[in-house]
Amino acid sequence: MPAKDMPRYRCENCGNKTRFDVVATEKSKSFYHYNLAGELTIENTEVEFFDVESVTCRWCGSTKTVVDGSEVVVN
Ligand SMILES: [Zn+2]
Repeated sequence: MPAKDMPRYRCENCGNKTRFDVVATEKSKSFYHYNLAGELTIENTEVEFFDVESVTCRWCGSTKTVVDGSEVVVN
């Protein structure tokens, strides 16, 4: 999943907008491409399921005050 599609998190406790620990469950489908030497290149990864379990602010350690600010439209 491209990072641009992810929520824009913000911590209401300390104002952090840039550093978060995100715990998530992900289901993805990828093309595993081996060369004749057996070296693997993983291509075309498609994320089919992505469920965020918890988001922790790296600055204050809070999990309760992190909000998704991506719905705020700035013109
Ligand atoms: Zn914080």
